[in-house]
Amino acid sequence: MTKPKILALSQRDQYLLSMPTLDSQLPALFENGEGVEHVTAYCPGCGGHVHSARIRGVVVRPLRSLIVIEALAACPVCKAASRVDYRIHEACSVSNLTRNGWVGPF
Ligand SMILES: [Zn+2]
Repeated sequence: MTKPKILALSQRDQYLLSMPTLDSQLPALFENGEGVEHVTAYCPGCGGHVHSARIRGVVVRPLRSLIVIEALAACPVCKAASRVDYRIHEACSVSNLTRNGWVGPF
């Protein structure tokens, strides 16, 4: 029987975990009233969903037309930590950071 691999958290991951929950920072809205009300992350450990009350990190607005979310989701079921990286554009399209780089906007 093999032990599950536990990846060490990077310094950036530890910083994100020290930040407030996304719940406390959302909604983040554009001037047109559209935007992000909440985020749910997919857990790669167990396939479950992690609500924004259990995701910690930063929500920043580098441009009036762009919301950037960089966070770490801590799964309450399997304890896996996974990165949450989104760029939300004012047209309400979303780019997602994957292993292959930024994908989108969709
Ligand atoms: Zn999980």
